[in-house]
Amino acid sequence: MPPYDVHHEVLTGVHLIRGADRARFPEANSLLIDDELLTLVDAGAELSRIEKTLHDLGRELRDIDQILLSHFHIDHKGHAEEIRQMADCEVLCHPSGEKAVRTFQGMVEFYGIWGHEYFEAWEDYLKKRLPHVTSDYKVTGFFEDGDRIDCGTNDLIAIHTPGHTVDHTCFGINETKTIFLVDIDLTKFGAWYGNAASDISDFRQSVQRIISFDPEMGISSHLLDPVTDGLRERLQDYLLEFDRRDREILNAIKNGFDTIKKLQHRPTIYPRIPHNLFYIFEEFMLEKHISDLISKGFIRHEDGSLHVTNMIDELRKSSSSQ
Ligand SMILES: [Zn+2]
Ligand SMILES: [Zn+2]
Repeated sequence: MPPYDVHHEVLTGVHLIRGADRARFPEANSLLIDDELLTLVDAGAELSRIEKTLHDLGRELRDIDQILLSHFHIDHKGHAEEIRQMADCEVLCHPSGEKAVRTFQGMVEFYGIWGHEYFEAWEDYLKKRLPHVTSDYKVTGFFEDGDRIDCGTNDLIAIHTPGHTVDHTCFGINETKTIFLVDIDLTKFGAWYGNAASDISDFRQSVQRIISFDPEMGISSHLLDPVTDGLRERLQDYLLEFDRRDREILNAIKNGFDTIKKLQHRPTIYPRIPHNLFYIFEEFMLEKHISDLISKGFIRHEDGSLHVTNMIDELRKSSSSQ
């Protein structure tokens, strides 16, 4: 893989700090607004990358005035608490995510994985690889949908876009022509909603809401470069992934993968399972699709297994008419 620059100025005074490992989970990009109020949006990029960006701009970690957290996930809250302790800065989040930002226990509740067979594997992984995210975080304030967060010359507009998580928030930079899309991330994987605090229909509506702004530039937390070319089509295609997964699940059930366990170990949504603990997320996402498909009348749950009751063509008709 070719090397890439740690940071890139996407708009005047707005710097994309690219995560390590091509910003793939558990890394993520951050944004730095170099303004009267030095503002960091998300803190999941490697700390040395955040420091390097600041250094190149003649600043340092302790100069940061405020950190905005897009949502409670580990690759986004990241180093916020370490930075807050150094900089004595504000840390703002959406109120619906407060509990999961503040404490590890709150985060686990929002993940919905207490007592899960892979919970210990997940906890061990975090303690070894990302011990900082198991600490408590201080939150000093909140933003709500539509709030303008003043940085000086630039404003950030909070666009609450639940679905990925309940608190997931994108940010318009000055207006809504440039949007930090966070984990409406436009990656090949597609949408991720593997937590108790995730919701497919909210996610769909949030992507539609972003499309309705007709943005010209979308900055993903997990892509190295902002997307400009064909952004609208990319967002629309991202939305279609939900239907593709519905169809994939219906086909798999027809082919005998007629329980969540069988679908999960296939696996059906993840192209492959990189580590056992990802079975948790596969299972959560499958459960959400299946309850949705049951409520729409495409599947029936009977005698401990799933049965397809409607043709997939019918699904296509129903989803295209929505
Ligand atoms: Zn996330
Ligand atoms: Zn992420």
